[in-house]
Amino acid sequence: MAQHFKLISCISLFLLLLVPSNAEKPTHKKPLLPSKYENLEIKKPLIVSSNSENPKLLHAPSNSENLATKKPQPFGFLNHLKGGKKGENLAGIRELKKYLNKFGYLNYKSINGHDNDHFDEMLEAAVKTYQANYNLKITGILDSETISKMVMPRCGFPDIINGTNSMTKKHEGHQHHGSNKLHIVAHYSYGSYKWPAGKTHLYYWFETHITYSSIKRAVARAFNRWASYTQHFTFEETLDYQSSDLTVTYYRGDHGDGSAFDGPGGVLAHAFFPTDGRLHFDVDERWSIGAIPNYVDLESVAVHEIGHLLGLGHSTVPDAIMYPSISYGVVKTNFHADDVRGIKALYNI
Ligand SMILES: [Zn+2]
Ligand SMILES: [Zn+2]
Repeated sequence: MAQHFKLISCISLFLLLLVPSNAEKPTHKKPLLPSKYENLEIKKPLIVSSNSENPKLLHAPSNSENLATKKPQPFGFLNHLKGGKKGENLAGIRELKKYLNKFGYLNYKSINGHDNDHFDEMLEAAVKTYQANYNLKITGILDSETISKMVMPRCGFPDIINGTNSMTKKHEGHQHHGSNKLHIVAHYSYGSYKWPAGKTHLYYWFETHITYSSIKRAVARAFNRWASYTQHFTFEETLDYQSSDLTVTYYRGDHGDGSAFDGPGGVLAHAFFPTDGRLHFDVDERWSIGAIPNYVDLESVAVHEIGHLLGLGHSTVPDAIMYPSISYGVVKTNFHADDVRGIKALYNI
């Protein structure tokens, strides 16, 4: 009976694999934003460069448009929850529920399920899943290691998509054989979305307000990194939105795609799986070209987001480009073997 079931599962999986994921999708031509947002003003980012000995300010938005550093950190509420555990009522737990919901860990059936400060069983399960994904001790308690991981600035792309934990699914069937033995499990993940086989040369388009060549160069370098690592994709800038496959834009707050940005800190950027092609940076971050303390390196974040544009999900390996969070003041643009394995497996290259 069990074998029968296994066979049926295999056949279903095979059939699923046969369905081209982009079959019913038009070849990506749609307006940038829904009509409600069509007049949305796109802001210019605060950006500094570390190319000279003294960091050079490339662009400082005017006082009225620059909210950077004035707002509390979006994930700052987590610091007040340290030590929290199941059964307790703590002010701010509802914010944690929203956080875990946003990144795919928690999905209450009742619409009000998340709107209270009770640390319930579902929340404990979500915290445990989060701890497993981030290689933390699985306690279900909001210990300081868990909180320090959660407050890190990160990508807005969820770790769990429609209930599928993209960060652990590749571990299935793997057994650890002791620390001194090589284990070849892949920690990368990817969805069922990818660019069609013949589509290897992708055109990217910058929102017209991105006029700073240093920003364009940093993003172009990030594309080139993927080109050399994959030996499969090539990328080219186009000035024509209609002929572009990928689009790069800065937004502030709610910008019409259901994933509002949250001001300085918190979520830095997000991107969409193929063949959508949109990459959005949060304009309110303190961006830098190169490593500057308290600033986030634009190229590092771009390399990560391009991984999503190509179909990769998040990795559990902290050194991998596809790890969800990044520290301030660092440059992280070198691929890890895990990233390379991920893209090679996805495109069979
Ligand atoms: Zn991401
Ligand atoms: Zn967006």
